[in-house]
This record gives sequence, C-alpha cells and structure tokens, in this order.
Amino acid sequence: MPSPSAAQSLSFPLGEHLPASGQATEVAPGVFWLRMGLPFALDHINLWLLRDQQADPAAPGGVREGWTVVDCGIDNPATRQAWQQVEYQVMQGLPVLRVLVTHMHPDHMGLAHWLCERWQAPLWMGLTEYQAARLACQQHSGLGSAPALRFFAQHGWNRDEDLATVQRHMNHYAEMVPAVPATLVRLREGMPVHIGGRVWQCISGLGHSPEHMALWCEHDHLFISGDMLLPSISSNISVYHQEPESDPLAWFLQSLEGMQALLTEDCLVLPSHGRPFRGVGTRVAQLQDHHAQRLAELLQACTERPCSAHDALPVLFRRALNPQQMTFAMGEAIAHLHALWHAGKVHRRLDPADGVYRFSKP
Ligand SMILES: [Zn+2]
Repeated sequence: MPSPSAAQSLSFPLGEHLPASGQATEVAPGVFWLRMGLPFALDHINLWLLRDQQADPAAPGGVREGWTVVDCGIDNPATRQAWQQVEYQVMQGLPVLRVLVTHMHPDHMGLAHWLCERWQAPLWMGLTEYQAARLACQQHSGLGSAPALRFFAQHGWNRDEDLATVQRHMNHYAEMVPAVPATLVRLREGMPVHIGGRVWQCISGLGHSPEHMALWCEHDHLFISGDMLLPSISSNISVYHQEPESDPLAWFLQSLEGMQALLTEDCLVLPSHGRPFRGVGTRVAQLQDHHAQRLAELLQACTERPCSAHDALPVLFRRALNPQQMTFAMGEAIAHLHALWHAGKVHRRLDPADGVYRFSKP
C-alpha cells in the first residue's frame, strides 16, 4: 500500500516538451537543457549547459564569458555531431570554460576527454568517480572480465553461452569512454561551486555509482540530480564484482534521505533521464515504496526456498532479459538480496555442491 505522499503525482512544469538533439531549452535563467541520444533501451540523456563567467588568468581583473557543461554523453559520432550543433546554435560563440561530470557512467563521462581537449577546459569531478572511470576505460577491467564472470557464476548465473556473450562485451565501457582527461579539479561533498552568478553545493550520493555528485542551488531552488533522482525510472542499484560484499541499496536509500533533508519540496529537479519535475518528497517516497515492495517479495521467495540472485530474477523482473540486460538485472538482484542479508533478515550460505550463494529465511 503506497504511503499518501507516494500516491501524489509529480508536476512537470515544461509539460511534454523535449529539446531536439543539438537544440537547447532554457529551464531557468542561464540554465539550458540539452537532450542527446543513447543506443540503449534508455534512449536519451539530459545534459546541462550553464552560462558561466570566470576570472581570466591571462588578464588580471578581467573575466572570460563562457559555459559550464554538466555531463557529456557517450563518445560516438552522433553525440559529437550533436555537440557541434550545440556549439553552433546555442553557445553564442562562447567557449566551454569547464566540464563538470556527475559520475563515471559512460553516458555522463564519454565525451569529457573530447570536450576538455577541444576547449582546453578543466574536468571537475569527484575523485572516486574519476579513478573508477580511469580504471574502467582500461581493457579487461569491465563487466565481462574473468573476475566478473566468476562473480555472476557464484550468484547462480552460470550458463556458458550467456557468459560467453557477456565476455564479448568486456570492453563495452572503453568503447563509449575511450579516454579520461589526465587531470581533474576534485569535487567534494558540501563544496560550493560558483557557476555564473550562482552558487551550487555538491551533494554526494552512494549506491548508483562510487560517489555520485549532484548539484543544489539553494538560492534558486534548482537541483541537478544526475542519476540519483529520476522521475519515471528507478536508478540502477547494483553490487559489482569489485565490491562483492557491498550493500548499495541501503546506501542509496540513506543518500536519498540525506538529499531530501537538504532540498526544498518546490525545487525544480533537473534529472539525467526523463523530464524536469517538481515533487522531491513524492518521488523519494515512491522510490522507498518501490524498493520496500521488492524486498518484501524477495523475502517471501527466500522463505519458500533458498534463493540465489539468479533464482530471484523472475521475482524482480517479469519480462525476458537478454544477456546484456541480465548483467544489470543480476547486479540489482544481488543488491536487493544483500539489503536483506545485511539487515539480518536472511542468511547467506555458499552451497558446497555447486559453489553458489543462496539466501534463506533463518
Ligand atoms: Zn548512472
């Protein structure tokens, strides 16, 4: 049963409007919404172009007019072309002064290296995310690596043909993020970032990526939420092989609470996917309910018989999944089982017969 706040609906002040690729929509003075394509089921990402002004290092007392870019799109010809169109049609002949990236996922990070190089602009990003991106863009560290395949097998996904498909996508990250800038300016939790006339506060969030950074402008009630708060889909929350014991769902839910405590209910949320919306408390309540319901269903399944993450997939996902979707689905299933396990609601046992982790009600 959803709580009353979860039953309320969000408001979308721009209605059904979506900016075309290479075009921009001004959502607040000096804050422009760009929307670029993605070659996945999730077919677009929102990027933000913020009018900016910085001290000119070459002319003491002088200023440089330009833009701060928030997130970049993946590196492919279509996205590069869309950026060139933005440059021509939106940027009024002014340069990019800074490239700020919320987190290391390819749709956010992909073209950072290209934009930084093209404009000789610095990358601003959290250090944990930056290091993770540098590692992931090297070969053999990705989702299809041997440690990742062992991890999936240990959670019950051990069909050779599926794992062979996953292995073929080992360099998936590097295909979309071929390089990472060599230097960065580090974003830290609570740090103020001055962009144009506004001050944005960094709000770090865990659970979706190593240490996601969202931006809150208290003066104008604007929140660039990245992937931490989305209006119509729930953020992917996964356990990965690098941190096989982690509890990212608990971290994510704690981060949402922390965020909500800082934000105002009337603030305009600028998410990375979907449309800008109002109704932070409503959306947080909906997400809390969504995960609580899934945890209750999983707990019920673990009561009936010991469940591996692979056994849990039909409980969480009521549709057919291709091997690539399976990697995300497995990560999510493990995250939900780990939330129950770390909360002491289920036991975890490594079955000596087949080397698979199964979770059961004590
Ligand atoms: Zn993401």
